[in-house]
Amino acid sequence: MRPGYLFVLSAPSGTGKSTLIDRAIREIPGIWHSVSATTRKPRKYEEEGVHYYFMERAEFEKTITEVHFLEWAEVHGQYYGTPSEEVDRRLTGGEDVIMDLDVQGALQVKKHRPDAVMIFIMPPSLEVLRKRIEDRRTETEESLRRRLSIAEKEMGHRDQYEHVIVNDVLDDAYVELASVIQSSRGSADEAGS
Ligand code: ADP
Ligand code: 5GP
Repeated sequence: MRPGYLFVLSAPSGTGKSTLIDRAIREIPGIWHSVSATTRKPRKYEEEGVHYYFMERAEFEKTITEVHFLEWAEVHGQYYGTPSEEVDRRLTGGEDVIMDLDVQGALQVKKHRPDAVMIFIMPPSLEVLRKRIEDRRTETEESLRRRLSIAEKEMGHRDQYEHVIVNDVLDDAYVELASVIQSSRGSADEAGS
């Protein structure tokens, strides 16, 4: 059995990455979305173990020292990291894994796993990004400003990704994402045959 494929998605916060990933998980069989740990507080609709494992800083720092993260980073003043055990188990079992990481975490993964498929999702503009975050009603004004200033820096790294998808019309962006996933699987199967 071939090991699963690893897909790494990055995008400035508010671009629509979770929306696209949720749809991919629902519509494409054999793909699992890795659940990250974070020290940020849950949003109203978020569930423990489904969207994130929510941790206190001390617990997160202890997990770092015990080397239980595949990668981790401090983003917008909070820790985020990927517990490695389940990702490895799924990949070894032949399941594809999709990881939603900031640019720092994505580049760490690329270094250790050069065969990871790297995908960057762009907002159509910073104005549209601001509007999406405002409409989501999850951030304070300070957190919104912080996310927008980091967004510009993150977009400067898009050349380090193999695929760049602009999420303007949601259905079009989803079709592009699904096609990157399917064509990566296709090329792996051809290489193995
Ligand atoms: P992220 O995971 O990148 O932070 P979300 O998936 O939470 O972003 O999307 C941010 C907001 O923008 C959500 O309210 C979502 O419904 C909305 N959204 C996502 N994609 C689009 C799109 N193409 N057009 C309009 N609104 C969108
Ligand atoms: P949010 O707070 O909006 O859910 O996520 C903020 C940022 O953290 C996003 O850029 C998201 O991709 C990133 N992120 C989520 N989980 C992880 C993770 O496990 N590791 C890293 N490095 N970044 C993550």
